[in-house]
Amino acid sequence: MGDLDAIAGRHVLVTGAGSGIGASIARRLGRAGARVTLAGRREAPLRAVAADLPDGAAHVVAGFDVTDPQAIADGLAGARAAFGPVSILVNNAGAAETAPFGRTSLAQWQSVIAVDLTSVFLVTQAVLPDLEAGGAGGRIVNIASTAGLVGYRYVSAYCAAKHGVIGLTRSLALELARTGITVNAICPGYTDTPLVREAIAAIIAKTGRTEAEVLAEMTAGNPQRRLVDPDEVAETVAWVVSPGAASINGQAIAVAGGEVMVG
Ligand code: NAD
Repeated sequence: MGDLDAIAGRHVLVTGAGSGIGASIARRLGRAGARVTLAGRREAPLRAVAADLPDGAAHVVAGFDVTDPQAIADGLAGARAAFGPVSILVNNAGAAETAPFGRTSLAQWQSVIAVDLTSVFLVTQAVLPDLEAGGAGGRIVNIASTAGLVGYRYVSAYCAAKHGVIGLTRSLALELARTGITVNAICPGYTDTPLVREAIAAIIAKTGRTEAEVLAEMTAGNPQRRLVDPDEVAETVAWVVSPGAASINGQAIAVAGGEVMVG
């Protein structure tokens, strides 16, 4: 992966960079020499991740709620002032809510669609002029999920949103194909992050099962019988943003130990 060096100095914006997969991506690309804007709502976790990056490689934008167009515009202005136009966008922020379909309220539905799907529309549209001005080599990477490729029980809103992210990825990849900007989705299976740890805790509280039982059930769909490591997702992002991946476009790439096979 020698041509990863070619992302040195480029401005990467990662949403939801204060924890989990977003933090791993920010660290990975920062280590490769990129200048990384860590965007998220709370300052303290973002600063903690920024401290892991090389000196001068991180810019923190707090108050960056991906559902709020004004917060996105303000945060982006600060990011541009720090590191210039964005040339790699990683739409990572997201959240999952669990409920049987019949008990999913309209408010829950709208909140999940806003955080997991409309956010990708809003942030991408705001950043796109930077990418278009930068020309070939621009990258948009959407962290979707295997829930964008197949259905899962009790997360219908999340699955609908993540399927939507993949549809948006495919359409935009076609619209931008002649510019040399690529648009791809990465689809992790269950990954060992705070999001999943909270889900495990909630299931334990609700059902009285042990952590080992819940983990075994959660990983039963992964042929490797384990949670994905967030650094494995970050490694895939590092590849997709590298110049050598210029022909990888409009793809939904599963990082799930073989869980999802789509032809
Ligand atoms: P996480 O909870 O650690 O990270 C999600 C981040 O998004 C957090 O920092 C959170 O604060 C941020 N966020 C949530 N709502 C936001 C908002 N309105 N504005 C700005 N930031 C917001 O979880 P994670 O597992 O690292 O999730 C990262 C992405 O990966 C999400 O899009 C998630 O859907 C996706 N994903 C996770 C898994 C998994 O098993 N952990 C699997 C597939 C996909």
